[in-house]
Amino acid sequence: MLIDKISLIDPPLEDVEFSDFSKHRIRLKILRLDRMNLEVGGNKIFKLKYNIEKIHKLGSPVVVSFGGAYSNHLRALAAVGRIYSFKTHGFVRGEIVRPLNPILKFCDQQGMELHAISREDYRLKSSEDFISRLRSQFRDFYILPEGGSNKEALLGCSEIPQFIPQVSQSKLRYIILACGTGLTLAGIVLGGSRLERTKVIGFSVLKAPGYLYREVTNYLALTKSRSPNEELISWQIEDDYHCGGYAKTNARLLEFVDNFMRETNLPIEPVYTGKMFYGLSQLLDRGAVPPDAEVVAIHTGGLHH
Ligand SMILES: *Cc1c(COP(=O)(O)O)cnc(C)c1O
Repeated sequence: MLIDKISLIDPPLEDVEFSDFSKHRIRLKILRLDRMNLEVGGNKIFKLKYNIEKIHKLGSPVVVSFGGAYSNHLRALAAVGRIYSFKTHGFVRGEIVRPLNPILKFCDQQGMELHAISREDYRLKSSEDFISRLRSQFRDFYILPEGGSNKEALLGCSEIPQFIPQVSQSKLRYIILACGTGLTLAGIVLGGSRLERTKVIGFSVLKAPGYLYREVTNYLALTKSRSPNEELISWQIEDDYHCGGYAKTNARLLEFVDNFMRETNLPIEPVYTGKMFYGLSQLLDRGAVPPDAEVVAIHTGGLHH
Protein backbone atom coordinates (compact mmCIF):
# COMPACT_ATOMS: atom_id res chain seq x y z
CA MET A 1 0.00 0.00 0.00
CA LEU A 2 1.05 3.54 -0.80
CA ILE A 3 1.08 4.68 2.82
CA ASP A 4 3.91 2.22 3.53
CA LYS A 5 6.42 4.82 2.38
CA ILE A 6 6.09 6.32 5.85
CA SER A 7 7.35 3.97 8.52
CA LEU A 8 4.49 3.67 10.94
CA ILE A 9 3.99 1.61 14.05
CA ASP A 10 0.54 0.66 15.30
CA PRO A 11 -0.49 3.12 17.99
CA PRO A 12 0.21 1.60 21.42
CA LEU A 13 -2.59 1.51 24.02
CA GLU A 14 -0.99 2.38 27.35
CA ASP A 15 -2.30 2.28 30.91
CA VAL A 16 -1.76 5.56 32.70
CA GLU A 17 -2.06 6.32 36.40
CA PHE A 18 -2.84 9.86 37.43
CA SER A 19 -3.86 10.40 41.06
CA ASP A 20 -6.41 13.10 40.21
CA PHE A 21 -8.21 10.59 38.02
CA SER A 22 -7.64 7.37 39.94
CA LYS A 23 -9.27 8.84 43.04
CA HIS A 24 -12.46 8.76 40.97
CA ARG A 25 -11.79 5.06 40.28
CA ILE A 26 -11.68 5.23 36.53
CA ARG A 27 -9.34 3.14 34.39
CA LEU A 28 -7.39 5.37 32.04
CA LYS A 29 -5.85 4.12 28.82
CA ILE A 30 -4.19 6.25 26.20
CA LEU A 31 -4.11 5.44 22.52
CA ARG A 32 -0.81 6.94 21.44
CA LEU A 33 -1.35 8.12 17.87
CA ASP A 34 1.56 10.46 18.57
CA ARG A 35 3.91 7.49 18.66
CA MET A 36 3.15 6.17 15.16
CA ASN A 37 5.75 8.30 13.44
CA LEU A 38 7.75 11.22 14.78
CA GLU A 39 7.29 13.52 11.79
CA VAL A 40 3.68 12.89 10.88
CA GLY A 41 2.32 11.15 13.94
CA GLY A 42 -0.97 12.00 15.57
CA ASN A 43 -4.41 12.14 14.02
CA LYS A 44 -3.06 13.90 10.93
CA ILE A 45 -1.67 10.65 9.57
CA PHE A 46 -5.20 9.19 9.48
CA LYS A 47 -6.54 12.38 7.94
CA LEU A 48 -3.93 12.35 5.19
CA LYS A 49 -3.80 8.64 4.40
CA TYR A 50 -6.53 8.46 1.72
CA ASN A 51 -5.77 11.96 0.52
CA ILE A 52 -2.25 10.76 -0.33
CA GLU A 53 -3.74 7.90 -2.36
CA LYS A 54 -6.06 10.27 -4.18
CA ILE A 55 -3.29 12.76 -4.93
CA HIS A 56 -1.20 9.91 -6.29
CA LYS A 57 -4.08 8.69 -8.49
CA LEU A 58 -4.56 12.20 -9.84
CA GLY A 59 -0.94 12.22 -11.00
CA SER A 60 0.40 14.28 -8.08
CA PRO A 61 -0.82 17.79 -8.87
CA VAL A 62 0.32 20.57 -6.57
CA VAL A 63 -1.52 20.45 -3.26
CA VAL A 64 -2.92 23.62 -1.73
CA SER A 65 -4.02 23.88 1.87
CA PHE A 66 -4.67 26.30 4.69
CA GLY A 67 -3.92 26.81 8.35
CA GLY A 68 -2.81 29.12 11.11
CA ALA A 69 0.84 29.87 11.80
CA TYR A 70 1.00 26.90 14.22
CA SER A 71 -0.96 24.44 12.10
CA ASN A 72 -0.12 20.80 12.80
CA HIS A 73 -1.99 20.02 9.60
CA LEU A 74 0.29 22.13 7.39
CA ARG A 75 3.26 20.58 9.15
CA ALA A 76 2.11 17.03 8.44
CA LEU A 77 1.15 17.90 4.87
CA ALA A 78 4.56 19.42 4.21
CA ALA A 79 6.23 16.22 5.46
CA VAL A 80 4.12 13.89 3.32
CA GLY A 81 4.61 16.16 0.32
CA ARG A 82 8.32 15.62 0.62
CA ILE A 83 8.00 11.88 1.24
CA TYR A 84 5.58 11.33 -1.67
CA SER A 85 7.12 13.91 -3.99
CA PHE A 86 4.26 16.29 -4.56
CA LYS A 87 4.53 20.04 -4.35
CA THR A 88 2.72 21.66 -1.42
CA HIS A 89 1.53 25.24 -0.95
CA GLY A 90 0.48 26.37 2.50
CA PHE A 91 -1.71 29.45 2.85
CA VAL A 92 -1.09 30.86 6.29
CA ARG A 93 -3.70 33.00 8.00
CA GLY A 94 -2.40 36.44 8.87
CA GLU A 95 1.25 37.37 8.65
CA ILE A 96 4.24 35.11 8.21
CA VAL A 97 6.67 36.39 10.81
CA ARG A 98 10.41 35.96 10.21
CA PRO A 99 12.40 34.26 11.57
CA LEU A 100 9.88 31.49 11.06
CA ASN A 101 8.42 29.72 14.07
CA PRO A 102 9.40 26.02 14.42
CA ILE A 103 6.29 24.75 12.63
CA LEU A 104 6.59 27.03 9.60
CA LYS A 105 10.33 26.49 9.53
CA PHE A 106 9.75 22.75 9.33
CA CYS A 107 7.18 23.30 6.53
CA ASP A 108 9.69 25.41 4.65
CA GLN A 109 12.46 22.83 5.09
CA GLN A 110 10.18 20.12 3.72
CA GLY A 111 9.72 22.18 0.57
CA MET A 112 6.28 23.63 1.24
CA GLU A 113 5.84 27.05 -0.33
CA LEU A 114 4.31 29.40 2.23
CA HIS A 115 1.92 32.23 1.34
CA ALA A 116 0.51 34.71 3.80
CA ILE A 117 -3.14 35.60 3.29
CA SER A 118 -5.12 38.21 5.13
CA ARG A 119 -7.70 37.09 7.66
CA GLU A 120 -10.35 38.43 5.34
CA ASP A 121 -9.17 36.35 2.36
CA TYR A 122 -8.79 33.41 4.71
CA ARG A 123 -12.46 33.58 5.59
CA LEU A 124 -13.31 33.63 1.87
CA LYS A 125 -10.97 30.76 0.93
CA SER A 126 -13.83 28.52 -0.23
CA SER A 127 -15.42 31.22 -2.38
CA GLU A 128 -15.57 30.88 -6.16
CA ASP A 129 -13.54 34.05 -6.47
CA PHE A 130 -10.66 32.76 -4.38
CA ILE A 131 -10.70 29.36 -6.10
CA SER A 132 -10.50 30.98 -9.53
CA ARG A 133 -7.52 33.02 -8.34
CA LEU A 134 -5.86 29.77 -7.29
CA ARG A 135 -6.72 28.29 -10.67
CA SER A 136 -4.98 31.08 -12.54
CA GLN A 137 -1.96 30.67 -10.27
CA PHE A 138 -1.62 26.87 -10.35
CA ARG A 139 -3.88 25.63 -13.21
CA ASP A 140 -4.15 22.09 -11.89
CA PHE A 141 -4.23 21.59 -8.14
CA TYR A 142 -5.67 19.50 -5.34
CA ILE A 143 -7.21 21.46 -2.54
CA LEU A 144 -7.27 20.23 1.02
CA PRO A 145 -9.52 22.16 3.38
CA GLU A 146 -8.31 23.59 6.67
CA GLY A 147 -7.22 20.88 9.07
CA GLY A 148 -7.24 18.42 6.15
CA SER A 149 -10.87 17.72 6.99
CA ASN A 150 -12.60 16.15 3.99
CA LYS A 151 -14.27 12.86 3.03
CA GLU A 152 -10.98 11.05 2.55
CA ALA A 153 -9.92 12.17 6.02
CA LEU A 154 -13.18 10.84 7.42
CA LEU A 155 -12.49 7.44 5.91
CA GLY A 156 -8.98 7.47 7.38
CA CYS A 157 -10.13 8.46 10.86
CA SER A 158 -12.81 5.78 10.82
CA GLU A 159 -9.90 3.31 11.11
CA ILE A 160 -8.79 4.66 14.50
CA PRO A 161 -11.23 2.47 16.51
CA GLN A 162 -9.53 -0.64 15.07
CA PHE A 163 -6.85 -0.04 17.65
CA ILE A 164 -9.30 -0.08 20.55
CA PRO A 165 -10.12 -3.62 21.76
CA GLN A 166 -13.71 -4.72 21.57
CA VAL A 167 -13.88 -6.16 25.05
CA SER A 168 -13.50 -3.89 27.99
CA GLN A 169 -13.45 -4.94 31.63
CA SER A 170 -15.69 -2.02 32.45
CA LYS A 171 -19.42 -1.60 32.14
CA LEU A 172 -18.99 1.72 30.43
CA ARG A 173 -16.32 3.04 28.20
CA TYR A 174 -15.65 6.59 27.14
CA ILE A 175 -13.44 7.51 24.23
CA ILE A 176 -12.25 11.09 24.67
CA LEU A 177 -10.36 13.42 22.34
CA ALA A 178 -9.61 17.06 21.64
CA CYS A 179 -11.51 18.58 18.70
CA GLY A 180 -10.60 21.39 16.32
CA THR A 181 -12.72 20.76 13.23
CA GLY A 182 -14.46 17.73 14.79
CA LEU A 183 -13.58 15.52 11.84
CA THR A 184 -11.49 13.03 13.82
CA LEU A 185 -14.37 12.58 16.25
CA ALA A 186 -16.81 12.00 13.39
CA GLY A 187 -14.46 9.37 11.94
CA ILE A 188 -14.22 7.57 15.28
CA VAL A 189 -18.00 7.59 15.64
CA LEU A 190 -18.39 6.14 12.13
CA GLY A 191 -15.74 3.49 12.62
CA GLY A 192 -16.59 2.55 16.18
CA SER A 193 -20.04 1.06 15.83
CA ARG A 194 -18.79 -2.42 16.78
CA LEU A 195 -17.66 -1.11 20.19
CA GLU A 196 -20.23 -1.89 22.86
CA ARG A 197 -21.27 0.32 25.76
CA THR A 198 -19.06 3.08 24.43
CA LYS A 199 -19.59 6.80 24.24
CA VAL A 200 -17.36 9.40 22.58
CA ILE A 201 -16.71 12.77 24.23
CA GLY A 202 -15.03 15.53 22.23
CA PHE A 203 -13.47 18.48 24.04
CA SER A 204 -13.68 21.59 21.91
CA VAL A 205 -10.48 23.66 21.83
CA LEU A 206 -12.41 26.56 20.27
CA LYS A 207 -14.50 29.25 21.86
CA ALA A 208 -17.52 28.62 19.68
CA PRO A 209 -20.41 27.01 21.53
CA GLY A 210 -22.55 24.76 19.34
CA TYR A 211 -20.21 25.02 16.36
CA LEU A 212 -18.57 21.60 16.63
CA TYR A 213 -21.87 19.86 17.27
CA ARG A 214 -23.09 21.18 13.91
CA GLU A 215 -19.81 20.36 12.16
CA VAL A 216 -19.78 16.76 13.41
CA THR A 217 -23.43 16.33 12.43
CA ASN A 218 -22.56 17.51 8.92
CA TYR A 219 -19.56 15.19 8.65
CA LEU A 220 -21.64 12.23 9.78
CA ALA A 221 -24.15 13.02 7.05
CA LEU A 222 -21.39 12.92 4.40
CA THR A 223 -21.08 9.15 4.35
CA LYS A 224 -23.88 7.34 2.64
CA SER A 225 -22.11 3.99 2.57
CA ARG A 226 -23.51 3.03 5.94
CA SER A 227 -26.32 0.54 5.99
CA PRO A 228 -29.45 2.32 7.19
CA ASN A 229 -29.91 0.14 10.25
CA GLU A 230 -26.41 0.48 11.56
CA GLU A 231 -26.46 2.33 14.83
CA LEU A 232 -23.77 4.84 15.58
CA ILE A 233 -22.23 5.00 19.01
CA SER A 234 -23.33 8.01 20.98
CA TRP A 235 -21.21 11.12 21.14
CA GLN A 236 -21.21 14.58 22.68
CA ILE A 237 -19.17 17.76 22.54
CA GLU A 238 -17.98 19.58 25.65
CA ASP A 239 -17.79 23.28 24.82
CA ASP A 240 -16.67 24.65 28.20
CA TYR A 241 -12.98 23.76 28.40
CA HIS A 242 -11.39 25.92 25.70
CA CYS A 243 -9.76 28.12 28.37
CA GLY A 244 -10.31 31.32 26.40
CA GLY A 245 -10.24 30.03 22.84
CA TYR A 246 -7.98 28.39 20.28
CA ALA A 247 -4.35 28.23 21.52
CA LYS A 248 -5.32 30.37 24.53
CA THR A 249 -4.39 29.21 28.00
CA ASN A 250 -4.95 30.20 31.59
CA ALA A 251 -3.07 29.53 34.82
CA ARG A 252 -5.28 26.61 35.84
CA LEU A 253 -4.80 24.83 32.54
CA LEU A 254 -1.04 25.33 32.57
CA GLU A 255 -0.77 24.12 36.14
CA PHE A 256 -2.86 21.08 35.31
CA VAL A 257 -0.72 20.24 32.26
CA ASP A 258 2.40 20.63 34.35
CA ASN A 259 1.16 18.34 37.11
CA PHE A 260 -0.07 15.77 34.65
CA MET A 261 3.23 15.59 32.81
CA ARG A 262 5.26 15.46 36.00
CA GLU A 263 3.26 12.61 37.46
CA THR A 264 2.69 10.53 34.32
CA ASN A 265 5.73 11.36 32.18
CA LEU A 266 3.33 11.51 29.28
CA PRO A 267 4.01 14.42 26.92
CA ILE A 268 0.97 16.63 26.33
CA GLU A 269 0.56 20.27 25.28
CA PRO A 270 -1.95 22.98 26.22
CA VAL A 271 -3.52 23.53 22.77
CA TYR A 272 -5.20 20.14 22.31
CA THR A 273 -4.43 17.16 24.54
CA GLY A 274 -3.93 19.36 27.63
CA LYS A 275 -7.45 20.75 27.25
CA MET A 276 -8.83 17.23 26.83
CA PHE A 277 -7.33 15.96 30.10
CA TYR A 278 -8.18 19.20 31.88
CA GLY A 279 -11.77 18.88 30.67
CA LEU A 280 -11.85 15.24 31.81
CA SER A 281 -10.69 16.27 35.29
CA GLN A 282 -13.56 18.77 35.45
CA LEU A 283 -16.11 16.17 34.32
CA LEU A 284 -14.82 13.74 36.94
CA ASP A 285 -15.06 16.36 39.68
CA ARG A 286 -18.63 17.06 38.60
CA GLY A 287 -19.45 13.36 38.76
CA ALA A 288 -20.31 13.32 35.05
CA VAL A 289 -18.28 10.16 34.46
CA PRO A 290 -19.34 7.24 36.68
CA PRO A 291 -16.70 5.43 38.78
CA ASP A 292 -15.30 2.16 37.40
CA ALA A 293 -15.71 3.39 33.84
CA GLU A 294 -12.88 2.93 31.38
CA VAL A 295 -11.63 6.04 29.66
CA VAL A 296 -9.68 5.68 26.43
CA ALA A 297 -8.02 9.00 25.68
CA ILE A 298 -6.83 9.53 22.11
CA HIS A 299 -3.41 11.17 22.07
CA THR A 300 -3.79 13.10 18.82
CA GLY A 301 -0.19 14.37 18.81
CA GLY A 302 0.79 18.01 18.64
CA LEU A 303 4.30 17.68 20.06
CA HIS A 304 7.22 17.81 17.72
CA HIS A 305 10.70 16.63 18.40
C1 LIG B 1 -5.39 18.78 14.38
C2 LIG B 1 -5.39 18.30 15.78
C3 LIG B 1 -6.58 18.01 16.47
C4 LIG B 1 -7.95 18.30 15.91
O1 LIG B 1 -8.43 17.37 15.00
P1 LIG B 1 -9.84 17.64 14.27
O2 LIG B 1 -10.03 16.48 13.39
O3 LIG B 1 -9.67 18.92 13.47
O4 LIG B 1 -10.88 17.82 15.30
C5 LIG B 1 -6.48 17.49 17.76
N1 LIG B 1 -5.28 17.31 18.35
C6 LIG B 1 -4.12 17.61 17.72
C7 LIG B 1 -2.85 17.42 18.45
C8 LIG B 1 -4.14 18.13 16.42
O5 LIG B 1 -2.98 18.43 15.82
